[in-house]
Amino acid sequence: MPDAAIFLDRDNTLIEDPGFISHPDQVKLLPGTAEALRRLRAGGYRIIVVSNQSGVARGLFDEEQLGRIHARLGELLAAEGVNLDEIRYCPYLDGEEAVVEAYRQDSPLRKPRPGMLLEAARQRNLDLSRSWMIGDRMSDVQAGAAAPCRTILVGPAPAQYNGGVTPDHVVSTLLEAARVVEEHPDTPPPRRERAGEEPQLELLAEIRDALQRGQRRDSQEDFSFVRLIGALMQMLAIATALWGIVGIFSGTTGAAVARLGLAIFLQLLAMMIHLAYRRL
Ligand SMILES: [Mg+2]
Repeated sequence: MPDAAIFLDRDNTLIEDPGFISHPDQVKLLPGTAEALRRLRAGGYRIIVVSNQSGVARGLFDEEQLGRIHARLGELLAAEGVNLDEIRYCPYLDGEEAVVEAYRQDSPLRKPRPGMLLEAARQRNLDLSRSWMIGDRMSDVQAGAAAPCRTILVGPAPAQYNGGVTPDHVVSTLLEAARVVEEHPDTPPPRRERAGEEPQLELLAEIRDALQRGQRRDSQEDFSFVRLIGALMQMLAIATALWGIVGIFSGTTGAAVARLGLAIFLQLLAMMIHLAYRRL
């Protein structure tokens, strides 16, 4: 079965958000972040951060510095005994605010677009339908919904939702989000994917189905055979009874009683066969 992931926003979801973080010293874990990640990790999920970092395009810091900032985040989490699988970010921004030409573009990676999630899913063979996107902004929820995966907004919820997208869950902290994930276990992946992954099991299931079909056919043949015997027995019982009655009128009472006794026995036999057939 493919892995499922928890996609996490970075700023104001995992760490404090003082504006554009441009130095490792500014990285401060929010309360409960490490504990929440431990619990999500225990659920068997890949933990992948997906973060808009337009500060690169805005010329506030470069990708090298961003690497140091993320290394600091990794250190802080490691000190708490938990780690991330990956930190992905979008350094691009469109428009005049993007003063660094190389990063000025309308990127499909930038949330609310789902590019970062889709790229991660393709590279890591992730099952998005069993994955979650957790973040503090509606752009996080929109990216998650577009992937599509399940979404949790780490509140507060907006007064009204625009664009027809609403989060699947709204909570106040990342720890609560982890609880929501725990309370909503995986939905089974589509059969198509299971078949691709486990061909032996698929073959076994086909053999089992074929055997069951064969058994059903055999049973039907038995039914007809049993029914035939039962019908013959019934006809024999009636004939014997008539023979007995004829005996009574022709004066051979002793023989007639014996024939009637035989008729009753045959009738009982026919009824037993009928009952046995019903049970089959
Ligand atoms: Mg955020």
